[in-house]
Amino acid sequence: MLRIVDGYLEMDDVNLYELAKSYGTPLIVFSEHRILENLEAVNDLKKIYSRLGIYYAVKACSNISILKIVRSANLGVEVSSIGELFKACVAGFKADNIIFNGPAKRLREIEVAVRLGVKCINVDSASELVKISHVASRLNKPVDIALRLDVPVKSSGIAIRSTGTKFGVDVRDIDGLIDFILKSRYLNLIGLHAHVGSQNTCLDSWIKSAEFLSSIYSMIESRGIKLNHINLGGGLPVDYAHEAQDIPPIFKPSVSDHEIVKLVTDTLRRNIGDVEVYLEPGRRIIANTSLLLSSIEAIKLKNGEKWLIIDAGWNVLNSVRVLRWYYEIASVNKANARELSKYRIGGPLCDGNDVFHDLQGESQGNPILPRYRLLPKYLEVGDVIAILDVGAYLLDLMNNFNGYLKPEVLMIRLNRDVVSIRSREKLIDLVVGEVDAEGLREAYKVLKMMGYEEG
Ligand code: PLP
Repeated sequence: MLRIVDGYLEMDDVNLYELAKSYGTPLIVFSEHRILENLEAVNDLKKIYSRLGIYYAVKACSNISILKIVRSANLGVEVSSIGELFKACVAGFKADNIIFNGPAKRLREIEVAVRLGVKCINVDSASELVKISHVASRLNKPVDIALRLDVPVKSSGIAIRSTGTKFGVDVRDIDGLIDFILKSRYLNLIGLHAHVGSQNTCLDSWIKSAEFLSSIYSMIESRGIKLNHINLGGGLPVDYAHEAQDIPPIFKPSVSDHEIVKLVTDTLRRNIGDVEVYLEPGRRIIANTSLLLSSIEAIKLKNGEKWLIIDAGWNVLNSVRVLRWYYEIASVNKANARELSKYRIGGPLCDGNDVFHDLQGESQGNPILPRYRLLPKYLEVGDVIAILDVGAYLLDLMNNFNGYLKPEVLMIRLNRDVVSIRSREKLIDLVVGEVDAEGLREAYKVLKMMGYEEG
């Protein structure tokens, strides 16, 4: 995977500095090898409990090449919009391997899901149940549904809150919902769904969620409905910390997938027997399969602190700002340097929050992220750094703030071929859709004037 050869960082035997220089930065690089390794690891969880179904959460990374690799490992997918459903189908997933989630499904989306015959629609509210019932009866097509519940447990985590969220139906409403379902000829209630939190390192919350869902499961079965699965959502955690100290334990999980699956399935088996159990991991499958290469554009000393200003900020890595997420950072072309310095790191955006430390927390006296990163003492403008484990919630959260273009995405294939799996945006993309045909012609003229030949 990652190793240092002659002072350069390599991924799957490919020199990352050479990639950065030939493709330009920012540059995102995925490892097919690592994705396959992760898929094998989650498939292996079936050895702990054979009735385990794994549905990759497309929201974690919806790139078509990546979805195709996920499909090759025989996983299903969880989608939460017509866009994700479309991409899953383009990647070759069959409807009966797709779970449809989300709190605001529009009539049109429900209609498509019912027509295609998705495996299950996870119902998020009473009003959605009514919509699904109308659509199914209009199409004269029965539909399999599960109820999403807002389980009353707290998980660990910074940006992760489980109770009192906007998601799911209120437990106190279940009786009424069951009455409605029992009256419908088109609604087949087949399961229960919950998602306690992403990067859920809190074993206790996994167990409490399983216990809570089993009690509702039994209650529903006592009303004469035979359910067939419990879906515990996503949240399998990932190690982001590596060697880093003094960062919140959530980034360094002390629980393994195996422990989580064993304890959860033991709990369910004890309470309701050998039910099918679904998981919807996103992060666990894709987070540590990718890194972001970024060039140093400026180095400055301010108030006695050294700053690196790099060419990727929250326009590329949005979760640093939104979730105050921790990512390890390493030198790419001075990877053997022995003398290190402490740096503050900022991105290119004209926004004071575009930094890799926790500005907000620092001002309140409780920062979550470290103020400094240790990197080679003698860095220069043009040197390249790698931000590690960025694969989850990266591509789907990128944006064009400040007129920055979304970077190219590469994948190192198993045979070490390097292929582009998403092209770098061009300047012209910033105006397409905002101008008419005449405006587009003008825009190309402006590009020419600026010396950008984009074709
Ligand atoms: N399932 C649901 C319903 C979610 O809301 C999420 C993430 O928010 C996931 C699955 C994926 O979570 P993770 O990437 O932490 O595994």
